[in-house]
Amino acid sequence: MPNLLDELKGHLEIVSLLNIKEVYLDDKTKKFLEGLCSKKERLEEIRRRLGNCKRCKLHQTRHHIVFGEGNPNAILVLVGEAPGREEDLQGRPFVGAAGKLLDKMLSAIDLDRYKDAYICNIIKCRPPGNRNPQPDEIEACLPFLKAQLAVICPKVICTLGSIATHTLLNTNVPISRLRGRIHDWQGIKLIPTFHPAYLLRNPGQKRLAWEDLKLIKKTLQELNST
Ligand code: SF4
Repeated sequence: MPNLLDELKGHLEIVSLLNIKEVYLDDKTKKFLEGLCSKKERLEEIRRRLGNCKRCKLHQTRHHIVFGEGNPNAILVLVGEAPGREEDLQGRPFVGAAGKLLDKMLSAIDLDRYKDAYICNIIKCRPPGNRNPQPDEIEACLPFLKAQLAVICPKVICTLGSIATHTLLNTNVPISRLRGRIHDWQGIKLIPTFHPAYLLRNPGQKRLAWEDLKLIKKTLQELNST
């Protein structure tokens, strides 16, 4: 007799073959599935499925896929745009100058990037010359970010910059009008702010980013106290 995991795997393969994009589970079923293996293991499975990805043209110029890193059990996920030069060379998100600024921003609200957050990007390979990701590249890569978010199930998502914010909120409204308040992404609170690389070029905007950080801190505190 097949065991439960084999049966479940069979059902999921059928779902995948039928190209069904979303499946809704009640809370009881979600908790049961979460108990089968840890979030860390499920993220590792997504990474395995990504493999040596060639789903879009960015594979031709990348050095490393930058999958994401941090605490899989964190209630905060930070979503940037795409790996830059340093990230591409090291295979890790936010390790260049912008990453250092991001670390400082998090530490200003008493958060540590490895302990309190998970960090990833809309797309996982560096666009040549740090150009903006193109729609076909985002479309090819986004299912993997969505799978990561489905596993981590954060309480708050902070989008860093226009591309990440516009992609998840499916809008082209300028980030200057979207930041400073809480949005909803599939039942998760989404707080946009400026990308740290933009803040390095426009230090005058750090004051507004600080307001966004305080909003993130306040939101996390409220969620922790309920
Ligand atoms: S950007 Fe995403 S979809 Fe494109 S090759 Fe890299 S991992 Fe694959």
